[in-house]
Amino acid sequence: MKCKVCREHAVVDVRRHNAGFCRDHFVKHIHDQVARTIKDFKMFSPDDRILVAVSGGKDSLAVWDVLLDLGYDATGFYLGLGIGGYSDRSKDAAVAYAEAKDAKLIVRTLAEEHGYTVPELAKLTGRVPCSGCGLNKRYEFNRAALEEGFDILVTGHNLDDEVATLFGNVLHWNTDMLARQAPVLEERVIGRDTVFVKKVKPLVRIAERESAAYALLKGIDYIVEECPMVEGNTQHRYKEAITLLEEASPGTKQQMYFGFLKKAAPKFAGEADDAEVVACSECGAPTIAHEGREPRCSFCKTKALALKRKDERR
Ligand SMILES: [Zn+2]
Ligand SMILES: [Zn+2]
Repeated sequence: MKCKVCREHAVVDVRRHNAGFCRDHFVKHIHDQVARTIKDFKMFSPDDRILVAVSGGKDSLAVWDVLLDLGYDATGFYLGLGIGGYSDRSKDAAVAYAEAKDAKLIVRTLAEEHGYTVPELAKLTGRVPCSGCGLNKRYEFNRAALEEGFDILVTGHNLDDEVATLFGNVLHWNTDMLARQAPVLEERVIGRDTVFVKKVKPLVRIAERESAAYALLKGIDYIVEECPMVEGNTQHRYKEAITLLEEASPGTKQQMYFGFLKKAAPKFAGEADDAEVVACSECGAPTIAHEGREPRCSFCKTKALALKRKDERR
C-alpha cells in the first residue's frame, strides 16, 4: 500500500478512510483531524489555558502531544490512584513525556489529597473499583482545573471509548446519559462561581488503533498495560463487540457516533435531568438539591464513608 498523499510506502492503513499513510503524512492526518474537531465543536482557542488529564496511556499522551504540536497552551495533570506498580509505571510515563517535551505537568495523588487509594476506596465502600475511581477522577480533574486557573479540561477519550459508552447507554436506554453524551460539556456556573470547568474530547474522531499508531510513530513511550482493576468491566465487552462489527464493515463506529450526534442527540435533549443544582455544603461542587436536607455531593458522601470506615478499622 502507498501513502495517499506522497505515494511513498505506507506504514499505516486506515480502512474506514480507505487510505494508507507514510509516517509524516499519518502524523499530519491526525493533526488535521484533531484540529478539525476542535474547530467544528468550538472546543477552545489559542488564548485558552488548557489542562490535559494524563494517565500515561496512549490516548492522553497522544492528545497532549497533538495540542502541543498545534501550538496550544496545554499543561498535563496526572492523578496518582495508588493502584500498585501500575500507578508507578503510568506516572513514570507521564513524567518522562513531560520532561522530553519540556512541558508542564501537575502531579497529585488521591492518598495525599484525600487519604485513600482506589483499591482501599473499593474495599471500604464495597463499591466496584471503577465506579469509585471514575467519581474521584472526575472530581479531582475538575478541582485541579478550577484551583489552578484553567479554562478547559481535555480528556483523551477516543472514538472507540465514545462508541462503547453510546452502545451501553443505548442497551440500557439511559436517556438522561444520552442527552448529555457530547464531545463538549459546557462550563457550569452557580451564582458567580464556575463549578464545572468546560470539558472537551478532541480525539472523538480518532480510533483507538490510530491513537496507538500515532503514539508509536511519534516515539511516545506510553504505558501499554491496562489497569489491573478493569477485569469484567462492561465497557471492555462493548468495545470487543463493536470491534467485531468494525472489522466486518469499516466505518461502523464513525457512522454510529457521528450519526448519533447529528440525528439522535437533539431528540434526547429534553431527557436531561433538570433537577435543581446547588452547591455542596462541604466543597461547593454542584449537586442535586433535596428538600430539607443539607446539600452534599456524592464525592463528599463517598469520602466521608470511606474515612469513617477506615477509622473504625484502626
Ligand atoms: Zn506520505
Ligand atoms: Zn462536596
